[in-house]
Amino acid sequence: MPPRPDLGPPPRLGYVASRLSRMAEIRSDDAALKRFAAHAGAGAYVIGGELVVLKNASACCDPLFAPDEARALGAVRESVFLGLAEDEAPRYGFGLDAKEIEPLKLRNDLKITDLRSIAVQGLIAAEHLPPLAEAKALLGWHARHRFCPNCGAPTQSVCAGWRRDCPACGAEHFPRTDPVVIMLAIAGERCVLGRSPRFVPTMWSCLAGFAEPGESLEEAVRREVREEVGIACGRVKYFASQPWPFPSSIMIGCHAEALSEKIVVDRGELEDARWFEREELAAMLKRQHAQGLTAPPPVAIAHHIIRSFVEDGADVLA
Ligand SMILES: [Zn+2]
Repeated sequence: MPPRPDLGPPPRLGYVASRLSRMAEIRSDDAALKRFAAHAGAGAYVIGGELVVLKNASACCDPLFAPDEARALGAVRESVFLGLAEDEAPRYGFGLDAKEIEPLKLRNDLKITDLRSIAVQGLIAAEHLPPLAEAKALLGWHARHRFCPNCGAPTQSVCAGWRRDCPACGAEHFPRTDPVVIMLAIAGERCVLGRSPRFVPTMWSCLAGFAEPGESLEEAVRREVREEVGIACGRVKYFASQPWPFPSSIMIGCHAEALSEKIVVDRGELEDARWFEREELAAMLKRQHAQGLTAPPPVAIAHHIIRSFVEDGADVLA
């Protein structure tokens, strides 16, 4: 195959390239927050559990509600300040209880769906994906951290939703992000892909797993590849990252140099794994594979990790 096959213009990775200015410095400035809240263009993203509320439209749905419009949808359990849009209009995330979302599903003027489907199906303008990811990860953290892990007392949201304080023991709790390594193990013109039982039947993807306490990202990459497919890896090269708010991960994309060949699949994690030639991967990305095999959609970082190997071969490790 040619050194660099033409796969067309690079597709857009989902949930990255936020246009919001997060304005961390005003999160504890009540006067500034009050001033911004009065902005005529203020807008809120509305989330209940795993579901996002959108204004229904045939072409492109609108995920942004005026704050009063959003409050009319149901009782807002948690409100977080996400940042300022380019015109200084503030953006908020409003968290509703999952049960408040149920009656909204009956309304024709609304569309209720999950953030993954929104990204994959392109239901909203791409600029809304990063603030929705921010809102979902942060609101999900609030929902799961209502009690102090130190003493068990109920905690209170402060700093415009960016901290929870415990009035009983004084502990301060900050939103967390869990690192996941996602990688492609490469040997020359080949690389290893796996299939999770959760995948659609045709799809193959990169291996992935949580980095563990006391472990570097490079060590996590080598451990996960060894555990899942029995391959030893040497060099690890960082590629790019992506917030993955399901519920609160950051995907850290890497390429890794495979040092061994024999695959031993961990059937507890994967349905199958095997070596793929670059040429076969190119056909999968172009959706021209003879058996109809596919790569993950362009909104996911796995697509981009695979694509860069198809384009540049083992040079991705240089
Ligand atoms: Zn406490």
